[in-house]
Amino acid sequence: MNTKPIELINQKRPVVISGPCSAETEDQVLQTCTQLAETGKVDVLRAGIWKPRTRPNSFEGVGAVGLGWLKKAREQTGLPISVEVANLNHVFECLKHQVDILWIGARTTVNPFSVQEIADALKGTDATVLVKNPINADIELWTGALERLNKAGITKLGMVHRGFAQHGNSIYRNEPKWQLAVEMKRRFSEIPLICDPSHIAGNRELLQGISQQALDMDFDGLMIESHITPDEALSDRAQQVTPQRLEELVDSLVIRRPHIPDEELTNKLSLLRNQIDLIDDDLLKLLGERMKVAEEIGEVKKEKGITILQTNRWEEIIEKASENGALQGLSKKFMIRYLNAIHQESIDHQNEVMNQSELSEE
Ligand code: PEP
Ligand code: MN
Repeated sequence: MNTKPIELINQKRPVVISGPCSAETEDQVLQTCTQLAETGKVDVLRAGIWKPRTRPNSFEGVGAVGLGWLKKAREQTGLPISVEVANLNHVFECLKHQVDILWIGARTTVNPFSVQEIADALKGTDATVLVKNPINADIELWTGALERLNKAGITKLGMVHRGFAQHGNSIYRNEPKWQLAVEMKRRFSEIPLICDPSHIAGNRELLQGISQQALDMDFDGLMIESHITPDEALSDRAQQVTPQRLEELVDSLVIRRPHIPDEELTNKLSLLRNQIDLIDDDLLKLLGERMKVAEEIGEVKKEKGITILQTNRWEEIIEKASENGALQGLSKKFMIRYLNAIHQESIDHQNEVMNQSELSEE
């Protein structure tokens, strides 16, 4: 991909983008933004003008009038402004008001038609665009959106990790699934990656922990929603923080560096990493052996004509392994993921033994 660094984003690590979820009134925008600027911790202002809401009858944003308020906030604070765009009209309005950074929201990244419409509208401009991950955990859509913009000639691109919708209970509003963001960082190491802890958390309490985790995973910045009176916000009330709280949050973060020139540290780390590599080799060998035994069981099941899945036996394994896992300090969440992965691989091996070989014998 042909990309260029984004001055506004690359100026500082971590870059901090903050501002209300939604622009609501001129006063609310100006007060929030000037208070944010006074903290000295914020590099870019943000606000939603058009709000893609899950249900109608929720507050859907003030529309283009809010862009005038943001321009005023930029004049008063000297900070650049960023706004979410979801269609061609939004792009034109933002270009008209010289919005410094555009971002594509999670509900738009899922739709290649919308992303293409935005990319086409931006052709020939020098726009800076941040692309949020899609709502669902499909990073090909995230990748595709970056590619569409880049093909339209947009080179100043960034990625925003805001978590993924999930079913069932979770402490998060959107599950972080960090490994997906890390995979995007691997694919596009030249593109800055920013974490949006507000939409991952869905509440104020978890913001600090998620922000610290993002920095520890070498993210380039944070986008955090803020509001002068969060409890009265017209959208995303529970997750917004006051400018003062934002300042405390940013101050509380420990900034660690990915590398430091320290021979002693390098040696220490490399010894520990060798140890990890050896353990990984052993684990893989054991897993291979386990699959061989599973295949032998498959032979027996085939001979006797019994099913692969034996529910009772599987429950017994889960129970025993979860207890053993806890004794080894392994979380229940990990044990379930681990056991499911092993079980699936065993089933695949047994399926091969019981069915594939039959086909090849014919
Ligand atoms: C937002 O940033 O206010 C927003 C709507 O976020 P997302 O697209 O991540 O849901
Ligand atoms: Mn929001």
